[in-house]
Amino acid sequence: MSSPAISYESLKEHLEALSMDAALTALDGVLEQGQKEQKSPVQILDHLLTLERAARFERRIKVNLRLSGIGLSKTLEGFDFEAQPSISKDLINELSTLRFVHSGENVLFLGPPGVGKSHLAISLSLKAIENGHRVYFLSVHDLVTKSRAAREKNRLLNLQHILVRPDLLVLDEIGYLPLKQEDATFLFEVVSKRYEKLKSIILTSNKTYASWGDIFPDPILATALLDRLLHHATTINIKGESFRLKNRRDAGLHPQTGL
Ligand code: ADP
Ligand code: MG
Repeated sequence: MSSPAISYESLKEHLEALSMDAALTALDGVLEQGQKEQKSPVQILDHLLTLERAARFERRIKVNLRLSGIGLSKTLEGFDFEAQPSISKDLINELSTLRFVHSGENVLFLGPPGVGKSHLAISLSLKAIENGHRVYFLSVHDLVTKSRAAREKNRLLNLQHILVRPDLLVLDEIGYLPLKQEDATFLFEVVSKRYEKLKSIILTSNKTYASWGDIFPDPILATALLDRLLHHATTINIKGESFRLKNRRDAGLHPQTGL
């Protein structure tokens, strides 16, 4: 049997070698408390590992948030459902359970500018990140810019991998600009790969499905893309006017100038 001092040193060394920083920091306190409260070795170990796992989870969330590309913080709590009666709060609450991410279903927010499509997409993304999911959020315009740069450097497959890997991909603002053939093809490949792997997409668009033919150079591609997107999907049609303009108008200000 080794002496307690040697076991303690070796325990610290193990934790260090395994990069279990939180457990290492908490070790003395956990051991002392365990002794004082006459905890069993199993209870002490469980306490230590629980702390380590919690710290790792928190770190993972921070990293995932940084990698997600989400710049703004928008929450469901900050969404005024009364101002937007065309959205069912129950449906959004159901989506916030993230069951759709687990089952690889898509969520499509459609509606005119300013009605909260991106707000809701960001809120659900943040919920997913808080729950340990990997999320990648980008506008379709950014996807096009990135794919062109990647194509030039022969790194298109690499970008495809980045877009297919996360548990949830958010494609914000499809439809503001018509897509060129090669950009549309790349988008189609990303959507198809995610469809095959049962991975969720949240998409926002100012266009109704009927006018997707205007976004895509090729109507067959538009139909094939919609087929995949809509196979397991919830569509939320948001009606009404821009939240900001409405607020200004309700406050008696001129809607365009805010004066
Ligand atoms: P969209 O993506 O539909 O064009 P956004 O989600 O960007 O619109 O909304 C525009 C702005 O108005 C954002 O700052 C958003 O947070 C805010 N907003 C929109 N609808 C609501 C709402 N119902 N409650 C609170 N804020 C809202
Ligand atoms: Mg938007």
